[in-house]
Amino acid sequence: MPRPFCCRRIAGAPPCVVFKPAGVPLSALEEICLTLDELESLRLADMEGLYHEAAAQRMNVSRQTFGRIIESARRKTAKALVEGKAIRIEGGEVVMANMRKFQCSECQHVWELPHGTGRPAECPACQSKNIHRAEEDRGYARAGRGCRRGRY
Ligand SMILES: [Zn+2]
Repeated sequence: MPRPFCCRRIAGAPPCVVFKPAGVPLSALEEICLTLDELESLRLADMEGLYHEAAAQRMNVSRQTFGRIIESARRKTAKALVEGKAIRIEGGEVVMANMRKFQCSECQHVWELPHGTGRPAECPACQSKNIHRAEEDRGYARAGRGCRRGRY
């Protein structure tokens, strides 16, 4: 089903899709499904330590929506840990943004922008025009070129 470009933006796919308590076969466990956008909310707010406002912008959603996403993510994750359930990470209406990383040659500041936003004119830290692409990956593995829609 084609959809308008409205999805929640995530930085990439997680390195694995199932977490479970050790020593118990998956078939004997109840699974909790954490969607990809919920995982991304945890990554941005709890791992990177962003405020909800900034995290919401990164995911291309409103602050209220981000609040709902992360509340659900934390409740599910806590329930899995406390009650010993498996967590399966899948689903959610998301697009994967290929992030491009830039570095300033003057002050060595490094920052990221999603694909399709154009090349930055200057360093956000020192306003130098002497900037270049920094190619090393960070965080999640890349999901290939362009945005992948609908599949997740
Ligand atoms: Zn700079």
